[in-house]
Amino acid sequence: SLYNKVVEGKAQVYFHKTKNEVFYNPIQEFNRDLSISVMNTYSNVNNNKKLKILEALAASGIRSMRYALEIENIEEILANDFDQKAVDLIEENKKLNKVESLVKSNCDDATLLMNSMSRNWKSKFDCIDLDPYGTPAAFLDSAIRAIRSGGLLLITATDAGVLCGNGADTCFTKYGSVSLRTPACHELALRILLQSINSHAARYSKYIVPVLSLSIDFYFRIFVLVYDGQMKAKESINDIGFFHVCPECHTFYQQNYGKTVPTRGNVKFVFDSTSPYDLNKCQNCEGTLKLVGPVWTGKLHDKIFIQHLLKYLNTKTTDDFKTRERMIGMCNLAYEELDNPLYYILDDICSVMHCETPNHNVMRSAIMNCNYQVSYSHCAKNSIKTNAPSEVLWDILKRW
Ligand code: SAM
Repeated sequence: SLYNKVVEGKAQVYFHKTKNEVFYNPIQEFNRDLSISVMNTYSNVNNNKKLKILEALAASGIRSMRYALEIENIEEILANDFDQKAVDLIEENKKLNKVESLVKSNCDDATLLMNSMSRNWKSKFDCIDLDPYGTPAAFLDSAIRAIRSGGLLLITATDAGVLCGNGADTCFTKYGSVSLRTPACHELALRILLQSINSHAARYSKYIVPVLSLSIDFYFRIFVLVYDGQMKAKESINDIGFFHVCPECHTFYQQNYGKTVPTRGNVKFVFDSTSPYDLNKCQNCEGTLKLVGPVWTGKLHDKIFIQHLLKYLNTKTTDDFKTRERMIGMCNLAYEELDNPLYYILDDICSVMHCETPNHNVMRSAIMNCNYQVSYSHCAKNSIKTNAPSEVLWDILKRW
C-alpha cells in the first residue's frame, strides 16, 4: 500500500508513506483535542446548536474526520485543500472512517472558497478552522466574511519567529503591527494576532470576542467569536493600544488611543490627551523606549466560556483525549490569568536588578501586601502578571 495508517482520537487516517506528501503532524494532537473540546462546548452553550464547519486548509483531513466522529452536534463539515493530492486522501479517509454523509471535500483556494460562501447566511459557517503552514494572515479577511454572526473562528499561527519579534518588519507586513523580542513576547504575539483579526472584522462592521487565546509550544491557537454590529465594531478602538517597552530592563508602559463614549444609539470617540509617563524614557533605568503595536489590549479569554470548557473536560477521560490533563492545566492557567496585559519574568527582572531570585511565592506575597493582584501567565513559567505599576515591582526588588 501507498499509505501508512495512524489512529488519533476516534479517527483513523491514512497518510502517504513517502516523505510527507500530504502534511500530517502528530505533535498537533493537542491542538486537535482542544479544538474538538472548544467546539463541543460552543455547541453546548448555544442550546446544542448543530454546527456547519469549514476546515479551510485540511491536508489529510484528520481534523475533519475527528470533528465528524467526536463533535456531538454536526450539520456538515467541509474539508478543503487546494492540493488535489490532499483532497484525494481526504476522500479515502472519509471512507475509512465511514463519515461520507457528514464530510464533504472541496479542492479550491481557501480564500476564493470562503469569499464565494460569504454571500448569504445559509452558505456561511458556524465554525471556520484555519490551520495553515506559518501565518494565517492571508486567510483572515475571507474567513471573517464567511462566518455567521455569533460564529467561532479557530486560528493557528506557527510563524512564532515573526510574531515574537524576529522580523518586526515582516510582522508589520503580515499583521499591520510591530513585534518585539521581549520576555513577554508570547503574549504580545497573541495580542498582535487578535488586533489583526479585529481589524479585518471591523472593516465589515463586525467585532470579535476572544474566548481562548493560547501560546502553545512553538505556535499560537486562538478561538474567537465574531458578531455583526457596527457600534461594537467602533468601540473595539477601546481594546487597541500600544506598548512602550524598555529594551534594557523590560519595563513596559501601555498607551491606548482614547475612549469612546456612548451618545444616543451611537458612539463618540475622545482622544486621550494626557499620558502619565514620559514615553521616550524608561522611568526605571532611563533606557530609550521602543514602540510596539498596535495590539489588542482587551481580554484574551472569556472566563465563563473557560468554566464551561473545564466542566466539559471533567466529563471526559484520557481515553477520550490523550492530552486531557494538559488541556485542563492550560485552561486553569488561562482561567486564573489577570486581564492586565503582559507580564514580567521573575528571573529576568532579578538579573536586571542584580539581585538573587526570590521564591516565586515570596514575590507574589510582596506584591499582594502592596494591595495589588498577581497571577501567572499561561505563556511563560515564572511569569508575574499584575495590576501593579512597574514602579511597585522595582521598589520591591530594590528593598530586597
Ligand atoms: N489542518 C491539518 C491538520 O490538522 O493536520 C494541517 C493543514 S497543513 C498545515 C496546511 C494545508 O493547507 C496544506 O495541505 C496545503 O496544501 C494547504 N493550503 C495552503 N495554502 C492554501 C490555500 N490558499 N488554499 C487551500 N489550501 C491551502
